[in-house]
Amino acid sequence: MTSKKIIREKGSNNWYKTKKKLAKVHEKIANIRLDFLHKFSTKLIEENQLIAVETLEVKNMLKNSNLAKSISDVCWSKFIELLTYKAKWYGRDLIKIDTFFASSQLCNNCGYKNKEVKDLKIRNWKCPECGKVHDRDINASKNILDEGLKIQKAS
Ligand SMILES: [Zn+2]
Repeated sequence: MTSKKIIREKGSNNWYKTKKKLAKVHEKIANIRLDFLHKFSTKLIEENQLIAVETLEVKNMLKNSNLAKSISDVCWSKFIELLTYKAKWYGRDLIKIDTFFASSQLCNNCGYKNKEVKDLKIRNWKCPECGKVHDRDINASKNILDEGLKIQKAS
C-alpha cells in the first residue's frame, strides 16, 4: 500500500483533518457569497426607489443545466430575501413580478410577443414586428421594470 492510500483511508486521522479543512473552505466561500449579496442588495436599495424583480421558479430552472450553476451560485432566493427586508428599512418599493409574465418574449419597443424566444439558447433576437434588435436579458429587464412601474402606479 502506498502512503497516499493510507492518508486517504476513510476514518483515519488524516481523512478527518482533510474533511475539516474542506468544510472550512466551503464555509469561507459561503461567507464571501453572502457578503457579496449583502453589499449588492444594499447598493441597489440605496440607489433606487423602485426595484422590480422576477420571482423565478427556481425548481424548474434548476432542471436546465445551463441555468443551474448560475442560479445556485447567486442564491437568488437569499438575494430576494435581503432585498425584501432592506426595501422595508429604506422605504423602497420592491415589486415582485410573477413568472407568468412573459418578460423575455415581449418586445420592449412595440409589445409584440415572440414565442420563439422561449428557447433559452437565443441570446439576441430581432423583433419581426418593429425590427428592433434585442439582447435577451436587457430586453427582459426593461419589461420587468415597465411592469413594476405599472404595478406601482396601480397600487
Ligand atoms: Zn417590436
